[in-house]
Amino acid sequence: MLLKMSYVITIDGPAGAGKSSVSKRLAEKLGILYLDTGAIYRAAGLFLNNLGIKPEDDLKIAEAMKNFKLELKNNLVFLNNHDITHEIRTAEVDNLASVYSADKAVREALFQFQREQKNYGSLIAEGRDVGSVIFPDAEFKFFLTATPEARAKRRFLERQSKGVENNNYDEILKAIISRDEHDSKRELSPLKIPDGAILIDTSFMNEDEVIERLLSLVESVI
Ligand code: C5P
Repeated sequence: MLLKMSYVITIDGPAGAGKSSVSKRLAEKLGILYLDTGAIYRAAGLFLNNLGIKPEDDLKIAEAMKNFKLELKNNLVFLNNHDITHEIRTAEVDNLASVYSADKAVREALFQFQREQKNYGSLIAEGRDVGSVIFPDAEFKFFLTATPEARAKRRFLERQSKGVENNNYDEILKAIISRDEHDSKRELSPLKIPDGAILIDTSFMNEDEVIERLLSLVESVI
């Protein structure tokens, strides 16, 4: 019997480094699953905030998270059977995800769910700690980064193309710098380059160039 090797690719990095679109397209090209861990933290932030539970209330969070049933299907996100795919993409939820994801009870509750996704086959996991904490033994680890200005410009253009109202570059830049600071300085799973990860600065690369680079690195091995 021919055994098919299954493998994990992790892509970590700050907001706006191009992780999501690159991971999605790379997963399609390789024909493997795409795991957007940011979407999971966004869903958790929305869920806990809607329940009025404070980010520091670990006991209530641990209890509430027992009723957090998440499903990721065809790039859609379902929370307790409700489609929240679009709801989790607002600036408000950017902030809720960043705040609640610093909490131990939240991270613990989501740890297993993320790990289990590996049981469905090869995958690309994208986030802040997927190469350091969730899949430390991943076959391929990348860390995508770019200057805060380059990242803010991308977010601005992305929101502009979607016709988002009140789109403001300076505000996006400020929010990115503040989210970076929060994500890198927190005690648990701070954003950092995982051991063994290849660092790629995408400030002056377009999406196709980044994908080509990653693909050539992965295909040279598999
Ligand atoms: O990647 P995205 O912008 O969707 O992530 C939203 C927030 O979720 C991040 O700012 C970060 O605080 C949190 N997050 C995390 N760990 C991950 C993925 C996201 O803490 N693996």
